[in-house]
Amino acid sequence: MEFTEFSTVIDSLFLFFGQTLAKNDRKRDIYVEVKDIPGIAMESIIKQIKRESDNLPRNIGKAFALGWRLYKSRHPEKIRKFETELCDECFGHGILTVENTLPGGRKEVFSFSCRLCGNWRRHFSKDNLFSTRAELETRGLSVIWPKKSIAVNVSVN
Ligand SMILES: [Zn+2]
Repeated sequence: MEFTEFSTVIDSLFLFFGQTLAKNDRKRDIYVEVKDIPGIAMESIIKQIKRESDNLPRNIGKAFALGWRLYKSRHPEKIRKFETELCDECFGHGILTVENTLPGGRKEVFSFSCRLCGNWRRHFSKDNLFSTRAELETRGLSVIWPKKSIAVNVSVN
């Protein structure tokens, strides 16, 4: 799931529980924990959190992880297509997330689909912009995730 989609999902969750919307820094902290969850599972996960919780969960990353485990156990047929290809460019994550500093110092975060493998399908329901690390660096964008040492940790069982 890319950050923009995640951001919309989180806003809807905070609104549902009557909370002030999370600032971008907090969203990014949560995003790091849940970024490997495919967008296709989000609707189901959010529904489950709304159904099971009286308040906004204190540990949102944990609530998402639980929702993702339930989704996988309920929809094994949908999960098979998310099996990971080995890729030295995105380390199996399928996305390259960059941070761009805007004039005035505000930062924006967005994700490109990895051009070198098919793992982007886990995150994007339709075509996103494709790129490679070298292309992004040429455009002056620094890849903030995944760093080279972090391997994919999605289990598809
Ligand atoms: Zn890749």
